[in-house]
Amino acid sequence: MNLLNTLKFLKIESKKQEKTINLIASENYSSLISILYSSSCLINKYTEGYPNQRYYSGCKFFDIIENKTILEAQNLFNSNYANVQSHSGSQANFSGIQSLINKNEKILSLDLKSGGHLTHGFIKNFSGKYFDVVNYLLDKNYSINKQYLYKIIKKEKPKVLILGYSSYQKYIDWGFFNYLSLKNNFFIISDISHISGLIASGLYPSPLIYSNLVTTTTHKTLRGIRGGLILTQNYKLIKKINLSVFPGQQGGCLANNVLGKFFSFKESNNINFLKYTKQIIINSKIMLKTFLYRGYESIDYNTENHMFIIKIKNINSFFLEKKLEKYGILINKNFIPNDKNKSLNPSGIRIGSSCITTRKIKKLGSELISNYICDLIKFNNNFIKIKIRLLCLVYPIYK
Ligand SMILES: *Cc1c(COP(=O)(O)O)cnc(C)c1O
Repeated sequence: MNLLNTLKFLKIESKKQEKTINLIASENYSSLISILYSSSCLINKYTEGYPNQRYYSGCKFFDIIENKTILEAQNLFNSNYANVQSHSGSQANFSGIQSLINKNEKILSLDLKSGGHLTHGFIKNFSGKYFDVVNYLLDKNYSINKQYLYKIIKKEKPKVLILGYSSYQKYIDWGFFNYLSLKNNFFIISDISHISGLIASGLYPSPLIYSNLVTTTTHKTLRGIRGGLILTQNYKLIKKINLSVFPGQQGGCLANNVLGKFFSFKESNNINFLKYTKQIIINSKIMLKTFLYRGYESIDYNTENHMFIIKIKNINSFFLEKKLEKYGILINKNFIPNDKNKSLNPSGIRIGSSCITTRKIKKLGSELISNYICDLIKFNNNFIKIKIRLLCLVYPIYK
């Protein structure tokens, strides 16, 4: 494929993004400035190591950039220490887990179907292959079953408990788990990949003081450039984390993305970002309300964050996902807790409000979109395709 052809696909992709209402809860739109600065000449630089301790020479200016990015991350999350080098959320989790426990030691985590992430112990992932994994469960109300958790901790004596999920719409009682960890002597990793934007704004409780370390992506609700981040309050631990990231998990970091993260963190530490994240939660609540009003069931009557799960009965969630895509709406098929179905046709869909809120869509637009989906679950309606196009025109991603 020649260069011009490739650029053509980039153009089509960007048009497609503009013409699509995106409700995928893990996605967002980075600002043009973050995108611009993450594509700089820093791509050319190898920066293995840390400021003033690099493997290669010539890192003088990147040392300054990395130090400023670390400070910006610490400011944003009120944390004492930060490592900004992880390429992505999965890498941050690998490094985080590896900094606390050894191979074959025990991780206690929520399973994939209940909302956990691949890197929390899925059998085909590093976490499931190299560590001993036991899962905790949700109870009938899809809350974390505290009694079961208590029992399993006594029985299994895990070394580390992983909190924070990919599809969990309620608050997490960080303090309770912290209490258990102090009593039973295990570490806590809180993975806030999905909710870090809301936590940065103070709209969702922060796990920082209740966890040994916190991991996150930078590109979900935080709306930054693609990447990972690890935070801790503990000086001894940041030394271990740094070693676990480099040389423990990766060689040179993506220096260009570290600068991108600097701008992303700065942008998120701002009154406009606070307004943005407030609207994310408002839109998410409005959408869930609309689905409930239309007779659909979620795993809870409420959502405390940017997303929620809708149970899908009598139709195939795989086909629904494909059908909605044809109408210009992206959602993802998703497990519900204790799902009996397989991963190709799980019993739910996940709806997230971060992307439409970046487009500045508010209450009315959120209601409209939810109603279109409810209609499309039942019927075909070509008018909706046009309405989605119009909505995208009125609320562009990039002006
Ligand atoms: C998205 C996500 C990750 C992984 O992020 P990648 O950047 O895709 O590697 C880790 N943990 C949770 C809970 C996530 O939702």
